Amino acid sequence: MNATIATIVDRIREYAPDADTGPVLRAYMLAVRAHDGQTRASGEDYVHHPLEVADILVGLRMDVDTIATALLHDALEDNPLSKEEMSAEVGPVITELVDGVTKIGKLKFRSKEELQAENFRKMMIAMSRDLRVILVKLADRLHNMRTLEGHRPEKRQRIAEETLEVYAPIANRLGLHGIKTELEDLSFQAIDPDTHARVVDFLEETAANRETYIADVNARLQDLLARNGIEGKISGRAKAPSSIWRKMRKNKVDVADVPDILAFRVLLPTLGDCYAVLGLVHADFPPVPGRIKDYVARPKANGYKSLHTTVIGPNERRIEIQIRTFEMHGVAEQGIASHWRYKEGHLALDPKDVVEISRIREAFETAQEASDATEFMDTVKRAFYADEVFVFTPAGEVKRFPLGATPLDFAYAVHSDVGDHCVGARIDGRMVPLEHTLESGQTIEILTNVNQHPRRDWLEIAKTSSAIAKIRRWLRRQEESTAQRMGRDMLENELERVGWSLEKVERDGLTGPYLKKRGLKEAGPIFAEIARGTRPASEVAKELLPEDAWFSQQEEARRNRLGTLLNRFTRKARSPVLIAGEDGILVHYAGCCAPVPGEPVVGFITRGRGITVHRASCRQLGSLDDARRIEVEWDRKSDARHSNTIVVWCENRTGTLSRIASVCERQKVNIEHAEAKATGGPLASVVLQVAVRDLAELQGVMDSLRKLPEVSHVERQAS
Ligand code: MN
Repeated sequence: MNATIATIVDRIREYAPDADTGPVLRAYMLAVRAHDGQTRASGEDYVHHPLEVADILVGLRMDVDTIATALLHDALEDNPLSKEEMSAEVGPVITELVDGVTKIGKLKFRSKEELQAENFRKMMIAMSRDLRVILVKLADRLHNMRTLEGHRPEKRQRIAEETLEVYAPIANRLGLHGIKTELEDLSFQAIDPDTHARVVDFLEETAANRETYIADVNARLQDLLARNGIEGKISGRAKAPSSIWRKMRKNKVDVADVPDILAFRVLLPTLGDCYAVLGLVHADFPPVPGRIKDYVARPKANGYKSLHTTVIGPNERRIEIQIRTFEMHGVAEQGIASHWRYKEGHLALDPKDVVEISRIREAFETAQEASDATEFMDTVKRAFYADEVFVFTPAGEVKRFPLGATPLDFAYAVHSDVGDHCVGARIDGRMVPLEHTLESGQTIEILTNVNQHPRRDWLEIAKTSSAIAKIRRWLRRQEESTAQRMGRDMLENELERVGWSLEKVERDGLTGPYLKKRGLKEAGPIFAEIARGTRPASEVAKELLPEDAWFSQQEEARRNRLGTLLNRFTRKARSPVLIAGEDGILVHYAGCCAPVPGEPVVGFITRGRGITVHRASCRQLGSLDDARRIEVEWDRKSDARHSNTIVVWCENRTGTLSRIASVCERQKVNIEHAEAKATGGPLASVVLQVAVRDLAELQGVMDSLRKLPEVSHVERQAS
């Protein structure tokens, strides 16, 4: 019989006599208007579809908002009706729910791989802010499956496969046993109509026979309960066609040879009764070894609890017996919906109804303390992947990330090379920076450039441990090769002081014995030690060179101070050690003078901390050990930003700070920190910490600041 708005309202009245069905009626009127003139593939008026979907949810005794949402679930799609108009008619809550259903309806499932299906299901759940959205979507799919005949065979096949891979498992996940079974049976019928017909025929042909058998076993179980003074309810049935189909494929047998297609169910008042009856059953019917399953001690992921055993019944037939309490049965049949029953005019939650449904049982224990249904749903929602996002690759593959993940995480998840060269991303066709936060359902496309490479600040942008590990690895490798290059230069400088060179050392065959003594295969690690300051270049030079060479040179140097000067002069002529613009483990910039790229600098080797870079004009230089000095020069290829502090002396008037800020903004210089200090007199000082690429940029912003009428003096902060 077709559902009508009248039958729907009547059925709601049965379980919720005092419900305000106004929203349901208004939703229906709006749906009629929105779908006016539309027909389904079957040719009937479109509005029958939302009515049937609503009817399925009435069967789950859902609340009024959910039923109204079902009536409107297709009304925003392909219709001139806007969200605003809908909200004016039925209010914002229902409109939001409808919007949620419309959004997840737009997700396209394109993969057949199991892991992908799992991620896609999670994406759907993660995207439904309210789990009622998923329930409407499941009811929608169920009615579409019931009315597949309107479609061509290929389309039927595709929809059925998607149902098996995405929707039936979600229904199972939420414990909606009835919906799950029907979705699976309808899919089975669409995918393999011949086998389906054979299974149904077989079940029909053997029905009479089976009825007698079932009645016999029922009577024996009933007798068993009666003898032991236990009250219970017993039922027996053949398993669903889809479940038989699964066994046929799993065991590669025909329908007649599928073992234990009969299942009996014993419902009892208490858990103690369940275990007692399990023992009694095994005393009467021999159990099949290895087929006892205790889903009470270890509930299924969807919260299903029951005791299962397979035993040898009359005529040596294997039968399955499921034993559980009435309460467990309610959850097994209706799952999550059993908690959302309509009570006293609104969605309400009775705390004693709350039992474990999801894989995260603790979440449900928290939910027990929830004071209302909304809070309960929030808790359930958090239990379902609320801390994860699911996004698409351009090819339609679903990838899963922790909440807060960025395009950088996505890029590294695609491939290390994509991550290393990532410059930005397009999300649903729109350009976004690397720091952008991903949201479920988005399609991400990564933009790369061969000149890009990982940077230290990426460690702050990436959120997944795998991306962070890959960035760290790259930076470490990079740091190691920089260290080796620098250490090599430094050793070369040292050797040159005593009239030698690495080339001569190599030519004289001195490298091999030295490496052997140190237990190394190559010189790289030694160079790195020199650059990091953990082993002085002079020490390495001393060990490397023959004693006489060293001593004679030392003598000579001591005798002739001019020689040392000349050596230093020679040293100056050598190419300086290149430093990249980034602050790293190896190179750091002296806080006293904060050098920026473009200005003359010198390096000092510090013990264990690599090289400290000062401005060549820094006053601290005089107090530093000349022997540790090393020539350095900026690597012009880098475009990293450097923090620098500027002090602006200006008249103390209102608005000055904002004018200073807008100057920086115009120059595209980022202010990291600003602090104004009144001096008591007419002048104030503003200390600005800015991030600049090089000296030109720093001077540019300082010059612009000087042009402000209220500014009297601008300088770089000196230590
Ligand atoms: Mn629909």
